[in-house]
Amino acid sequence: MTTPVKYSELGLVNTKEMFASAMAGKYAVPAYNFNNMEQLQAIVLGCVQSKSPVILQVSGSARKYANPIMLRHMVAGAVEMARAEGSTIPIALHLDHGDSFELAQSCIDNGFSSIMLDGSHHSFDKNVELTRQVVEYAHERDVTVEGELGVLAGVEDEVSHETSHYTRPEEVEEFVSRTGVDSLAISIGTSHGAYKFKVKPGEEVPPLRFDILEEIEQLLPGYPIVLHGASAVIPKYVEMINKFGGKMEDAVGNSEEQLRRAAASAVCKINIDSDGRLAMTAIIREILTQKPSEFDPRKYLGPARDELIRMVKEKNELVLGSAGRAK
Ligand SMILES: [Zn+2]
Repeated sequence: MTTPVKYSELGLVNTKEMFASAMAGKYAVPAYNFNNMEQLQAIVLGCVQSKSPVILQVSGSARKYANPIMLRHMVAGAVEMARAEGSTIPIALHLDHGDSFELAQSCIDNGFSSIMLDGSHHSFDKNVELTRQVVEYAHERDVTVEGELGVLAGVEDEVSHETSHYTRPEEVEEFVSRTGVDSLAISIGTSHGAYKFKVKPGEEVPPLRFDILEEIEQLLPGYPIVLHGASAVIPKYVEMINKFGGKMEDAVGNSEEQLRRAAASAVCKINIDSDGRLAMTAIIREILTQKPSEFDPRKYLGPARDELIRMVKEKNELVLGSAGRAK
């Protein structure tokens, strides 16, 4: 085995102080998913420009796509780029939906500062056991861990569920105390992917279950909560995609107003993946349709990256409330 690389060597931090500040300041830290250079540049530059802390988030399959070694160096480069811009924003590198101890261990030994172990599809006891195992390894190395209770519907890189079940508040306290997890992803009505809800035109998206969130807040005051599947599925991008030859029918997401309300509560981390994918795809489709002779990847990936920077800044400002919270 090669020598483990600790996240601090890459200029990264774990999520502990990030979440404490988010809780005190009533905002949420954005966790943006990426798997290539342009996405990573856009996320980091968008957060540098809006002075927001950021969690760089990678699923197991995204890590495989980029190559684990390549990915580590990309992140180190992104941190160095931010510092060269004169920015000191806190940056974490987080594994999204880790499904085994071995994957968690490999990420921790390769510079990740935060790990999600998602055992939500297992029985309660098995979930506790797996999460506990990862927490022990992670905490010895000062890496923070996110667990999950409850099941989100929808399709994401690693997970796919037809139906959701909401988190049971009565299980939360026991889960947190038995596992020692630093934060917990809960299911209160967000959903993975771009096809989140089956609603007819003009129909409202079902509201988030703030009653469940409030109950959890009362049971565990000050404990950091995480929301997954929290893209708004920004309508202007879906419209652009459909206008320029795409076919995304019935793509609908969460209300940004509700997400902003959640960000002001115990929710300290909000995951955004689909919206970033949509922003880039919309611009790439537009350019390739309008300039069919274009074949220089920089000519469509560059503008797609610029659009993603704009989207990140807007989200930090209007949804997360994280803009201006770092330097
Ligand atoms: Zn997720």
